[in-house]
Amino acid sequence: VTEHRLLAELRQAVGPAHVLTEAGQVEGYVVDWTRRYRGEAVAVVRPGDTAEVAAVVRACRAAAVALVPQGGNTGLVGGSVPRGGASAPPEGQVVLSTRRLDRLEPVDVAAAQVTAGAGVTLEALQGHARAAGLQVGLDLAARGSATVGGIAATNAGGERVLRYGVARAQVVGLEVVLADGTVVRRLSGLVKDNVGYDLAGLVVGSEGTLGVITAARLRLFPDPPSRAAALVGVASVGAAIDVLAALRTRLGGLEVAELMERTGLDLVRAHLALGQPLAGDHPAYLLVEAAGSTDQATALAEALAEVAAGGALDAVVAEGPGERARLWRYRDAHTEAIATLGIPLKLDVAVPLAVLPAFLDEVSELVAARPGVRAIAFGHLAEGNLHVNLLGVADADADQTTGEVLGLVAAHGGSISAEHGLGVAKAPWLALGRSAADVAALRAVKGALDPTATLNPGVIFPEP
Ligand SMILES: Cc1cc2nc3c(=O)[nH]c(=O)nc-3n(C[C@H](O)[C@H](O)[C@H](O)COP(=O)(O)OP(=O)(O)OC[C@H]3O[C@@H](n4cnc5c(N)ncnc54)[C@H](O)[C@@H]3O)c2cc1C
Repeated sequence: VTEHRLLAELRQAVGPAHVLTEAGQVEGYVVDWTRRYRGEAVAVVRPGDTAEVAAVVRACRAAAVALVPQGGNTGLVGGSVPRGGASAPPEGQVVLSTRRLDRLEPVDVAAAQVTAGAGVTLEALQGHARAAGLQVGLDLAARGSATVGGIAATNAGGERVLRYGVARAQVVGLEVVLADGTVVRRLSGLVKDNVGYDLAGLVVGSEGTLGVITAARLRLFPDPPSRAAALVGVASVGAAIDVLAALRTRLGGLEVAELMERTGLDLVRAHLALGQPLAGDHPAYLLVEAAGSTDQATALAEALAEVAAGGALDAVVAEGPGERARLWRYRDAHTEAIATLGIPLKLDVAVPLAVLPAFLDEVSELVAARPGVRAIAFGHLAEGNLHVNLLGVADADADQTTGEVLGLVAAHGGSISAEHGLGVAKAPWLALGRSAADVAALRAVKGALDPTATLNPGVIFPEP
């Protein structure tokens, strides 16, 4: 009866066409990108504006049904789909899809900012900014589906953090529907605004547990006229760090430093039928990109020649969008190529650069002790951010393996979640990433803003 009443209220709130309940309609919303997480939804609701989002939130809270906010559903920690199995909330779950919140306001060129609906994809936002002569300071391989709301909710990082920072640095303000249906609107674009707590800042990285983001005001940047990329083959991860260090002091416009290993690169080559990118075959590869107002291809080539110091450095420099895209395919296709081999255990972590090679060696040892398991690591080198993908881990051993790898990360003073968030995947290990005092403060915030635990239960905080 309650479910029947809730569905009627949801239809009233967003219109019957936007309340999906048929199995065929909801399938794409209840299973995550990795296919590891799946749950059941009472309904998938697609509100068209902020008032409709507020009505949906209020109806779910009144019915004691959990609400799972979802943008592009490209998250990699299971936070964007309903919970499955024993941890599913007893009264059921509703998925709130933000994809219809896709309004893009004109770019404010003088302020170098834009306001975008939560459901706008990163790719659409990038095109919109470019048309106004500016660019978004954030990029990631899931750009075609990942949304502004999802990026803010996960405090996404990506490939250009080295120069522009994580999502938190791009968000000037947010519009958010809180768990009781009230709307908090901070979209003035004022960078200087020290009146009380920074509510938008609090919601950035909250993974749908504190409110539903309906719009974001984002910073934009000039788009430098010259851009060049280079792929460098190196003998080890340590050597890749040395090249990065040398480029840091030589290239003012360095934007990207992506690390790949031979195993990952070979997998991508097989998946996309690509040739070998360099003359030689190397244990590790570094993809770098620089942008500026002077000729970046020459600057990159000169810097790499200096790094080689007369020795041999196997590298290729690419200029122009086509040539650069050719190099980027080796990096961007990693996640998708790995997914063709099965459902990996994905561990997105960060460790200080000084201990990164040692950490990778320890992961190799851990993997060697598990027959049939293989590790493919790649990531954003400048932040010490590695995506450790473990293939072939038995379901029964997944928690043990996760705990061991995250334990190594913590022992090295690293972060157990660099950019993907905790979601449900890493919630059980929250205490490895935050002190008891931290966790108590986080819980106090959650309890104050969402006392009925309507929003994304099971995400960030471990289930009792
Ligand atoms: C191929 C690939 C490459 C990737 N590369 C990167 C990378 O380089 N860096 C990186 O950081 N991430 C990366 N990701 C992860 C993912 O794309 C990002 O986390 C992205 O920000 C998620 O956006 P989304 O719209 O798909 O969010 P979803 O997957 O829909 O949701 C993610 C989380 O945010 C919450 N959420 C979504 N929208 C809202 C909203 N409007 N209000 C409140 N909560 C919301 C959800 O409840 C969930 O907890 C990658 C993923 C893939 C598949």
